Amino acid sequence: MNKTRFRLLVFFMSLSLLGIILVQLYWVNSSLKNNEDQFKYHIQQVLGRVAVQLEQREAEEFYKMYQKFADSTGRNPHRDDLIVMYKSRQTGADSRHIIYSDQVTRDFDDVIFDKDAVEAYVKRKAAKADQPKGKPEREPGDDERVFTFKMEGYIKDFREYNAPEKWLSTAALKDIISRELIQSGVNTSFEFAVFDDGIPTKINSGNLGYERQMNDHTVFENNDGYTRYRLFMSFPQKGEYLVSSILGITSLSIVFTLIIIIAYVSAINQLIKQKNISEIKTDFINNMTHEFKTPIATINLALDSIKNPKIFDDKARVQYYLQMIKEENKRMHSQVENVLQISKLDKKELDIIKEAADVNDILENAVEHVHLLVEARQGTLTTHFEAQRTTALLNDVHFTNVIVNILDNAIKYSPDVPVIDIHTENVKDFILIKIKDHGLGMTKPVQKRIFEKFYREHTGDRHDVKGHGLGLAYVKRIIDDHNCHIYVESERGKGSTFIIKMPLIN
Ligand code: ADP
Repeated sequence: MNKTRFRLLVFFMSLSLLGIILVQLYWVNSSLKNNEDQFKYHIQQVLGRVAVQLEQREAEEFYKMYQKFADSTGRNPHRDDLIVMYKSRQTGADSRHIIYSDQVTRDFDDVIFDKDAVEAYVKRKAAKADQPKGKPEREPGDDERVFTFKMEGYIKDFREYNAPEKWLSTAALKDIISRELIQSGVNTSFEFAVFDDGIPTKINSGNLGYERQMNDHTVFENNDGYTRYRLFMSFPQKGEYLVSSILGITSLSIVFTLIIIIAYVSAINQLIKQKNISEIKTDFINNMTHEFKTPIATINLALDSIKNPKIFDDKARVQYYLQMIKEENKRMHSQVENVLQISKLDKKELDIIKEAADVNDILENAVEHVHLLVEARQGTLTTHFEAQRTTALLNDVHFTNVIVNILDNAIKYSPDVPVIDIHTENVKDFILIKIKDHGLGMTKPVQKRIFEKFYREHTGDRHDVKGHGLGLAYVKRIIDDHNCHIYVESERGKGSTFIIKMPLIN
């Protein structure tokens, strides 16, 4: 896949992921708004029904008075009789109602309703309050309408002398409201208050908080359009209630979105990793080919020389060229061997047998291997064997390779004269082997990756150093197999120290 295509793919995937998240947010927002509208609608309906019920109660209260008069006097009351009765119960505080009474139209002053008619009226009102919504209302007959109109006048009288506080308690209203709320499926705490001309009456839950666009509704509506009383409601936990209603589906959508994000990130990660690996592999193949080219060319030249009749007879020269061919062949062989060993280690085919051995011996052996290389570059290699206990369980061939590889790198990556120190010490039941150079050193991100297979640092000044990026990968695998640990401490330009921590045996 080429770079532009890859970038385009990532771009479009990120774009659509962002789109999905935005759509989800939009959806949550609009369903919250929807819910709020619905909530408001429900509450308005509840208030409407509460108002009807309150009027019904009022009618019942009126009927109680009517009946009381009828029972005590043995006749049905005249309108004025009732007003006199109300007035006699009036306290000073309510005197202003008397003024209103004068405004009542005098049309039906002389009307007397019989008890049964009044009772029937009250019952009808009750039926109206309980009537389920949507059912068509029964059309009353003409005379009934006149009767109802006149009755409303009587109730208006009652209303003006009997403020709701007199016959309606806060608890009773609360009861009505909560019953209606439950019926509408609204299940959250509420506060309410009845206002009389904008002033709160005693009928209130005590904590009616101010809310923007608070729900309210007129109660005890008068036919003349003037209505003193309003019922207000507020819902202190409205926000939580609305959120909780979409919480389930919202959290599901959050979970799924998170899964998509995680899957997306890991897919991109995987893609980048694969891309890196394929780059590293191409590098490796190029490197390998390059390194084989020289020995193959050398062998070719040597063979050509041997074929030359002049040289063919010169035994010493032939010997020299044969030696050259052998050396080159050995180099190629060791390179192939390296690659093979690493893949065997990967497949866990290598069964490494370990025996008790002296770490000092291994270190000395390894030093012996690289001794000539250091000398050739006029370098120094100093050992400080301070560890007293040095016996560990190890495979001497592989462990020697490990030390040689690290020493090899210390020489390879020292552009000036290599100065190498090998230091050992005991810490608890471990032996620490520190191999320090004063070479190129490496940055932290490089340090993290040097034990990866095929990893080589891509910097200009390192191109002249040959390698396949397999040495330390091999080291790491052998070290792991020996239950040891390897760390690197390094600073760019100052050198590196490789530390091996190895468990001792007695
Ligand atoms: P190779 O040496 O074949 O490239 P290694 O696995 O031995 O592969 O090392 C991996 C990389 O780690 C090297 O390419 C080099 O960048 C870095 N490295 C290893 N040892 C040292 C060191 N002593 N100083 C600086 N860099 C080092």
